[in-house]
Amino acid sequence: MHKVIQYRSKCIGCGICYELQPELWRMSKKDGKATLIKAVGKKQVFILSIPDSEVPKSQEIAAACPVRIIKII
Ligand code: SF4
Repeated sequence: MHKVIQYRSKCIGCGICYELQPELWRMSKKDGKATLIKAVGKKQVFILSIPDSEVPKSQEIAAACPVRIIKII
């Protein structure tokens, strides 16, 4: 198991994560930022467990985020 971490407060709402991986991301109508679906969050840091098979795709998203606020651990 790995984890996707999103430091949401610094999200600029570019929508790239959502475009590349709509099964994990959606864009909030409230504040225009990306929301990591089903993630658990505290103080704008959201964490979601993902299976190993989803790691390469998630790493691609992390690298594509222009403000680099998505981390895979
Ligand atoms: S790619 Fe990064 S900055 Fe762009 S919407 Fe997703 S989390 Fe926010």
